[in-house]
Amino acid sequence: MQAEFDLIIIGAGCAGLSLGVQLAKMNGTVPKTLLLESRKFYENDRTWCFWGEPGAAYSEMASHQWTQLTVQSAKEKVSFECAFAPYQILASQTFYDYAVQSIAQNALLDLRMDSVVLQEPQYQEGWWRLDTSCGPIRARAVVDTRPKSMESLKNTTLWQSFLGYEIESKEAIFDPLTARLMDFYPANSEFVGFNYVLPQSEKRALIEFTTFAHRPYFPNELQSKLDQSVAQYLKGGDFKIIRTESGLIPMGLATDNSLVAKVDHPSYVYTGLTAGAARPATGYAFQRIQEWARKCAGAMKETGLPLAHANDSYLLKKMDDIFLNVIRDHPDLGPELFMNLFAKVESKRLVRFLSDKGHWVDYLAVIKALPAAPFLKDIFNFSSL
Ligand SMILES: Cc1cc2nc3c(=O)[nH]c(=O)nc-3n(C[C@H](O)[C@H](O)[C@H](O)COP(=O)(O)OP(=O)(O)OC[C@H]3O[C@@H](n4cnc5c(N)ncnc54)[C@H](O)[C@@H]3O)c2cc1C
Repeated sequence: MQAEFDLIIIGAGCAGLSLGVQLAKMNGTVPKTLLLESRKFYENDRTWCFWGEPGAAYSEMASHQWTQLTVQSAKEKVSFECAFAPYQILASQTFYDYAVQSIAQNALLDLRMDSVVLQEPQYQEGWWRLDTSCGPIRARAVVDTRPKSMESLKNTTLWQSFLGYEIESKEAIFDPLTARLMDFYPANSEFVGFNYVLPQSEKRALIEFTTFAHRPYFPNELQSKLDQSVAQYLKGGDFKIIRTESGLIPMGLATDNSLVAKVDHPSYVYTGLTAGAARPATGYAFQRIQEWARKCAGAMKETGLPLAHANDSYLLKKMDDIFLNVIRDHPDLGPELFMNLFAKVESKRLVRFLSDKGHWVDYLAVIKALPAAPFLKDIFNFSSL
């Protein structure tokens, strides 16, 4: 006898668990849901940062926040204040623990760890049939959050790659009130590089070396640059590494559908980082995933069908595309372009733009801050679409 569910969520990382939390706390009829997760257990494998605007999800669980941010290049340093939307950091372990507890409290939700799909789901007579490591299962709807292969994403415009250490230094050397959003590596023709420094106390900070480039950079390629940066911030002082994190985020996603088993049916949706969760120009995905999870749970309740990520507005998408193309074609200009943005756009406008809450006047301010010359070719391509 096959186990039956209204919904199967494949992959219970950020997107899968976020949807699980929304379903678990839903009033009324909750869809009977199975979450399948391949990991055996959750670890504190990443930190999520976001602008803590009023209403930001999980804001109250953040372990630290900064109201002062800096960006810095070889030529200048720009500081800006963001008390109106503090930059917040959430440890993934805090989120995982909360999500697992919330899901466990609702008998209609079942999270199975160390579980995978053995064969791609097949649709027959209104049911998705799945052969899983927990046995055969059928479900009315599927939310698939499994990351797509790097090969299928090879036409993505830019890759954000990073490697970071959470360190504890012997001496009190950090300013816990100020985060360094981008401390630029010298401009060069291969990548836009920068350090991201998030001090949580005078002795403890997350330091990441990040690249935006036409190709992914793997941790072994970033390590020497990160080691140099850490030595520089610590001025040679003693420290220990408490935790390491790394990531590859597609910016300006392009999926080769011939290389993925893509199902085209309203009861099957793809979500998560490689299915449109990340804002193309920044790679930020956490708050967008929360917004999607709220809407997807609502749609499940009303229609029994899940939702994919919403498309960005035409204008936002085009602005992001143009920006990413310019960075890909002229990485040497990257530090200057970002410095211009932070120096010339009023911080409230910039934060609204970066967190997908921009009005058209914010878009205008961003456009005005960028030098016209490198954008002309791409603007022409845009206007001729
Ligand atoms: C280190 C790191 C730091 C980040 N920091 C930020 C940040 O500061 N701010 C921000 O907005 N975004 C950030 N992101 C981007 C984004 O928010 C995260 O990547 C987020 O975890 C994406 O959620 P997801 O559900 O798509 O992927 P994941 O969280 O990776 O979840 C996918 C899940 O699917 C499981 N899985 C994979 N294959 C199978 C299978 N065959 N069967 C069952 N399960 C499977 C995996 O084990 C995993 O749990 C960061 C990403 C990384 C990697």
